[in-house]
Amino acid sequence: MSLFRDDGIVLRTQKLGEADRIITLLTRGHGRVRAVARGVRRTKSKFGARLEPFSHVDVQFFARGSELVGRGLPLCTQSETIAPYGGAIVTDYARYTAGTAMLETAERFTDHEGEPAVQQYLLLVGGLRTLAGGEHAPNLVLDAFLLRSLAVNGYAPSFGACARCGMPGPNRWFSVAAGGVVCGECRVPGSVVPSAESLTLLGALLTGDWATADASEPRHVREGSGLVAAYLHWHLERGLRSLRYVEK
Ligand SMILES: [Zn+2]
Repeated sequence: MSLFRDDGIVLRTQKLGEADRIITLLTRGHGRVRAVARGVRRTKSKFGARLEPFSHVDVQFFARGSELVGRGLPLCTQSETIAPYGGAIVTDYARYTAGTAMLETAERFTDHEGEPAVQQYLLLVGGLRTLAGGEHAPNLVLDAFLLRSLAVNGYAPSFGACARCGMPGPNRWFSVAAGGVVCGECRVPGSVVPSAESLTLLGALLTGDWATADASEPRHVREGSGLVAAYLHWHLERGLRSLRYVEK
């Protein structure tokens, strides 16, 4: 049997039996972890209140080797709140839908439980902090998070140089299958021609140039979000359910 401690973001909770929950977290050191939290659905459980989606928590886990605990999952035995981002997120519809899509994306990009995904973890913590802070539009925070998640998982789209031959930008055509913008020589069937401003916005979101991103016009933000969603869906095989509810 072993005790281990880690901090993480609560991605999701599911009911287990009468009073328990299975908590899914993206942790700093152990990647995605599912664990059983006992008694957390009793109304006066402070422990349960801390283990809600969007919370950044420090958790002590107890694993019993080969002996089954719950469904063979480790137990959460203690938790401390590091930052309760949920409070500022769930009370605002646009933040909530963007945040839910961020949690779902983080889970989808961490297929293997227990496999460290430090960059994805850091992106999620930073993204939720920015979303809760409210200084940028929630859909921009979401798109920045999605683009950077694609990048740290090996699918960085190009918005300047041609994704195929490297010809310096600006390049007009955009192809999800080709990996971003492509030049006239490399354009493939199905390429679209987004506005130059939308491509500039996406490049700014990928690199963290918030001054450029915040100054973008709504129509370019909408077009950019569409390209991000198409690119993400291509790489995740099927669409993220929660993206449908994000206000455009
Ligand atoms: Zn090219």
